[in-house]
Amino acid sequence: MEIACLDLEGVLIPEIWIGFAEETGITELRATTRDIPDYDVLMRQRLRILKENNLGLTDIQSVISGMSPMEGAIEFVTWLKERFQLVILSDTFYEFSEPLMRQLGLPTLFCHRLIVDSNGTITDYRLRQKDPKRQCVKAFHSLNFRVIASGDSYNDTTMLSEAEAGILFRAPANVIEEFPQYPSVSSYEELKMEFLKASERDLSYK
Ligand SMILES: [Mg+2]
Repeated sequence: MEIACLDLEGVLIPEIWIGFAEETGITELRATTRDIPDYDVLMRQRLRILKENNLGLTDIQSVISGMSPMEGAIEFVTWLKERFQLVILSDTFYEFSEPLMRQLGLPTLFCHRLIVDSNGTITDYRLRQKDPKRQCVKAFHSLNFRVIASGDSYNDTTMLSEAEAGILFRAPANVIEEFPQYPSVSSYEELKMEFLKASERDLSYK
């Protein structure tokens, strides 16, 4: 049995914080783990900026609901679900991703949670576990699944290394260079081909 694991942001949907920063014009929110490597420091900064700008969860969700999955993503998810069991492994939060996940047909998503008070203010966040993408692949192995995984960035590389097959999708040049062991593709058609190649089953390309 095989499971397809996909990263979410950068593979199926745009980067949520960057999209949100663009929509609101709050450029400070564009910071990512590339600018501030300590995730907790980065998240504390984001929560502080939201509070300063009086932005609660519903404001954020309404901005995010105006965003769309990447072109071709909806069709790709359908294609993949017809051939594999699909689980999306992401470092986003359920509360943020929900409007975009709905547009993707609500595939299974394992990510993190925000803590929201009764006024709708985001007060904190909870990571489900440490190195969650790798832990998920390990867990699927313990259930006797083979795993084919695809992602675009550093936070995917433990998932790719743990899986039987890992594929980089639209990864930045430095990631492609550092991880030459993974095939690297930039279109959904190429990604489909890589999934078929990595599969143990004899699936035809359609
Ligand atoms: Mg990503």
